[in-house]
Amino acid sequence: MSSVASVVQYPLPCPECKNYTSQPAEKLRIDRKSICRVCGNTIRLTDQQLESLERTLSHMSGCGLRGGQQDEVSEELEEAVAQ
Ligand SMILES: [Zn+2]
Repeated sequence: MSSVASVVQYPLPCPECKNYTSQPAEKLRIDRKSICRVCGNTIRLTDQQLESLERTLSHMSGCGLRGGQQDEVSEELEEAVAQ
């Protein structure tokens, strides 16, 4: 299931003001865009960013399923994404 994608916040840089706006990865995957919290600009995911997001999520899902300890894994993943 997409439990990981719905909790993971994925930060995107605004091309206008360079601030980062975090959105749930699941939402970004569907919308492929975000609205900057600072200037209201529409941030479109590049193919590269989308690919990176998909890869990150599939990696996270794999770890979560194998480890069987979803909560612990989620915390580690949030830190990883925030960097
Ligand atoms: Zn902005």
